[in-house]
Amino acid sequence: GTVLVGGGSGFIGTHLCNVLKNKGYGVTVISRMPGPQRMTWNDLNDSGLPHGTTAVINLAGQNVLDIKQRWNAGFKQNVFNSRINTTSSLAKAILNAEVKPSIFVTLSGVGIYKPDKYKEYDEDSVGEEFDFLSHLCHEWENAAKLPVCDTRRVTIRSGVVLGRTGGMIKQLYLPFYFGLGGPVAPGDQFLPWIHMSDLTRLILFAMENPKVNGIFNGVAPQTVTNKEFTEAFASAMRRPAFIPVPKFVLDLLLNEERANMLTQGQKVLPKRVASLGFKFEFPDIKSACKEVVKKR
Ligand code: NDP
Repeated sequence: GTVLVGGGSGFIGTHLCNVLKNKGYGVTVISRMPGPQRMTWNDLNDSGLPHGTTAVINLAGQNVLDIKQRWNAGFKQNVFNSRINTTSSLAKAILNAEVKPSIFVTLSGVGIYKPDKYKEYDEDSVGEEFDFLSHLCHEWENAAKLPVCDTRRVTIRSGVVLGRTGGMIKQLYLPFYFGLGGPVAPGDQFLPWIHMSDLTRLILFAMENPKVNGIFNGVAPQTVTNKEFTEAFASAMRRPAFIPVPKFVLDLLLNEERANMLTQGQKVLPKRVASLGFKFEFPDIKSACKEVVKKR
């Protein structure tokens, strides 16, 4: 069947589409830009799901940590709309489809849990709405809700995705390469993470196992602090990482509200993923960092 991937042109989307194609799935990407094997969000709103859609996955979203974008009301609206409107367009298209896809997978963030140095969060923990990002995660998850219907719903609350071609690693690669890397102060804040390969394997696992349903923390079983991640990444790159990034610099560059994503953190456990019997390819930060920086 065909898998419809919203935001399939992005960092996670590109990787997922390659994995799907290698497995023999047909893939259609939904993008703002038309192109071959693509449709636009307007096409979706006008004509609904393409015939033969068996799975729908949404990976669209304006990059929150884009340093070129000022953290103002307009940009925050883009951050919000690019996730909530795309997700609700897909939910609506599924509801209107005569033949329902078997699964609807959406992402959410660990930002739904309030940063804390001691608390451990699993999927049963209650996420309060305490700031813009936690509110965003709630609305993002709400937008994916469907009334009782034949389509299974899976939401993955993903940690920082570690992959060579984008996201945080791409940002850190050059400074670390030149020996200018270091932890984000204070350093003892948790950094929930997952290797790209495990995130895409988890999405495939959900697609192929009819029992998988509901909310999952998409994080590796080994929880690490920012300092522990930095040490693992620097050591994989064979570089020192002495130069800490002070909180005030990030607050200035990014605005405190979004810098909190880096200067604070939460300890998140993949309890429900583990209970499925899913095996992580990269359960620990050392092996994940090694794979991410290896020569290709
Ligand atoms: P990317 O920054 O690579 O963007 C994904 C896609 O979103 C883009 O290719 C783009 O598609 C689409 N997009 C961007 N801005 C807009 C907009 N304003 N309106 C509509 N579509 C837009 O993201 P990632 O692949 O890194 O992440 C995908 C999703 O996963 C995001 O929602 C992100 O929040 C979430 N996530 C990511 C994590 C990570 O570490 N990377 C961690 C946790 C969650 P096009 O240009 O083709 O329209």
